[in-house]
Amino acid sequence: MKTIRTTSAMADWSRRLHREGVTIGFVPTMGALHEGHRALIRAARLACDAVVVSIFVNPTQFGPTEDLAKYPRRFRLDRALCAKEGVDAIFAPTAAAMYPAGFQTIVAVPPLARRWEGEARPHHFQGVSTVVTKLLSLVQPDTTWFGQKDFQQAALVHQLAKDLNLPGALRVHPTVRERDGLALSSRNVYLSAQQREAAPVLYRALQAGAAVIREGERRGARIQRVMARVAATERAVKAEYLAVCDPSSLEPVRTVQREAILLGAIRIGTIRLLDNLPVTIRAKS
Ligand code: AMP
Repeated sequence: MKTIRTTSAMADWSRRLHREGVTIGFVPTMGALHEGHRALIRAARLACDAVVVSIFVNPTQFGPTEDLAKYPRRFRLDRALCAKEGVDAIFAPTAAAMYPAGFQTIVAVPPLARRWEGEARPHHFQGVSTVVTKLLSLVQPDTTWFGQKDFQQAALVHQLAKDLNLPGALRVHPTVRERDGLALSSRNVYLSAQQREAAPVLYRALQAGAAVIREGERRGARIQRVMARVAATERAVKAEYLAVCDPSSLEPVRTVQREAILLGAIRIGTIRLLDNLPVTIRAKS
């Protein structure tokens, strides 16, 4: 397994593989790899001849008061996981390699970035859009995998890739969860034992929202209230948003039609956790 540190070496490696007719699967990450990342890597491994995993804690997607400095970095463990999963190359550039002196460009998708995570983290999505544009341009993948866990990010990347004709197909992998429903996240390591116990309330709130939709409730405000009530059962948890949205525009819906996405973010102490749950209403036969 190769570790690639520079942008030019990454581009050269991909060009060489493409010349040889090898298909490239790509999994972009910020490292501190867990079972969620592993699932994406395995999907890439099954679908493509070669797999590249990028490990880059992208500074431009963190706000000035966020956890960039203390974001978990575990390169040796990540490397071992990648080697075990048969990854062909890790692309782990430095921030200076990705953003050399004189770097000026910003890529943004304002409509999809406006609400939810974009509201809570004002520059987050332009950091994500810019780095994803760079990564896809460098890696030139045939297919790239994203996790559904970050639903708004995946929606935004789809739009970005379509608008800018970025290379390759995109696939979204379902969220991998702990047994109690908590979505795996590199940030879960910040949770104390007590906070860890409270954290699954986010998924329970989303499930309660999905359950009332299945029982026939269609009014967005009512569904939202049900989710808020569940989240409020944990005193240590503050719900930032629990929303019933259109899965394409991510705008809140007054009335659920055929499909909805339930989006949620909670804060436990200083830790923010995200999750979501898609809901499809099946026509009665
Ligand atoms: P991150 O390292 O957190 O930036 O995540 C890298 C990729 O892994 C993103 O596409 C995430 O959506 C995805 N991912 C993170 N956690 C999970 C999970 N629990 N299940 C599935 N995909 C995930």
